[in-house]
Amino acid sequence: MYRESLKKLPKIDEIMLVLKKKGILEKAPRDVVLSACRSVVGNIRELILSAKEDDTNIHVPPLDEVTDTVVERIDSLRRYSLRRVVNATGIILHTNLGRAPLGKDALERILEVSCGYSNLEFDLEKGKRGLRYDHVQKILCELSGAEDALVVNNNAAAVLLVLNTLASGKEAIVSRGELIEIGGEFRIPEVMEKSGAILREVGTTNRTHLSDYEDAVNNNTGLILKVHTSNFRIVGFTEEIGLPALVEIAKNTGIPVINDLGSGCFVELDRYGFEREPTVQEVLKTGVDVVTFSGDKLLGGPQAGIILGSRYILEKIKKNPLNRALRIDKMTLAALEATMKQYLNGEDAISDIRILRAIIEPLADVETKAKKLLIILQKLCIEGLVLTLKEGFSMTGGGALPTQEIPTMLLSIKSPRLSASRLDKRLRDCEVPVIVRIAEDEVLLDLRTVDEEEFAFIKEGLQLVFAEDV
Ligand SMILES: *Cc1c(COP(=O)(O)O)cnc(C)c1O
Repeated sequence: MYRESLKKLPKIDEIMLVLKKKGILEKAPRDVVLSACRSVVGNIRELILSAKEDDTNIHVPPLDEVTDTVVERIDSLRRYSLRRVVNATGIILHTNLGRAPLGKDALERILEVSCGYSNLEFDLEKGKRGLRYDHVQKILCELSGAEDALVVNNNAAAVLLVLNTLASGKEAIVSRGELIEIGGEFRIPEVMEKSGAILREVGTTNRTHLSDYEDAVNNNTGLILKVHTSNFRIVGFTEEIGLPALVEIAKNTGIPVINDLGSGCFVELDRYGFEREPTVQEVLKTGVDVVTFSGDKLLGGPQAGIILGSRYILEKIKKNPLNRALRIDKMTLAALEATMKQYLNGEDAISDIRILRAIIEPLADVETKAKKLLIILQKLCIEGLVLTLKEGFSMTGGGALPTQEIPTMLLSIKSPRLSASRLDKRLRDCEVPVIVRIAEDEVLLDLRTVDEEEFAFIKEGLQLVFAEDV
């Protein structure tokens, strides 16, 4: 059966001939077209081979169908894969959706700095080689109170670099309650292993005492690491040692204390009714030697890893050859510098930085937005579509404030013609995909993560979904 089906498969030469006649060879280099043909035919061959031995109706597509698939494949190469989407999930720092959207200033700086040459590693005053981190060093230090600052590719890189610099071949003491996994392969024990540090676990999952740390310190201790349990909380019978006590150990033994903050935040969110989370400034005041955090979590900037701490240690980190492999790019630096400048405006930073705005936006404002969108969508007069507003909860995401539910307004969409999962799929297929939440059999748009400027995308998306024959 296989053999007969395989014989019916169009030959590569035949497909190429048709493509040539259709002018497709002008659309892409010959090798690219050839490779597309091979992939398409290869996929069909695999389908045939994976069919059951006695399957008599294996479909072998005819030549024109196969060429159409090849043309579609080549056309798809021209389309952008990485695209803007509307985040209607209500998860404010959605790692899969690019975490923090950048502000206008950051975007303008990226354009300005990268459209031509820049002084990335050039000291304009001395006319000599400079350091790329210097562009954000001063502002980071002023805002945080740190002695020195260094920025790298992301926080995972920051943690790896710090561990490698201070504890390669030495022990790094961590509480068992902080051996976290934050998803996307970042697990403290594994990062530790790659850094060359020897993991020295202390305490238990729920309780770690000061004596656990003290007893673990020996001649081969490189550092004490405290990790923010970003995406979970241990509640009940628990004990955790705070930074001040660890810093005390550090003072007595000369062993540095490192704090992986995960989502370092510069503003006091508790003022807006959120859980108390120490700010980066407060953490540094404890006397901790080094803190690391992400640029694209609560900070609201581009993907980056920020390392703040004592000059002596940061000098060592800067000289580590691994730093070169983890270095930050100029576009990121431009965006990070612009984001940090927003923090000079104090409380106003909250309104300038989109993710902070989304977190603290009062429910009444989210509701006003939701009502506006409701009216816009009602005006489309899509037959049978049921649109309603309901209350719900948004999440911060990105490993920040994991147990904090933020009240929000949801726009529910129900259609007699499309199930929720099919509507969800259709919305993802739009020119500007709309990523929604599904609960039971309804599609929910969480307005906390949608800006008014994005309403047009949702409107056009829905219009198109229902204009098609569904
Ligand atoms: C998010 C997080 C990281 C990783 O940060 P990236 O910027 O994603 O590399 C590391 N540690 C903690 C505690 C985190 O929350």
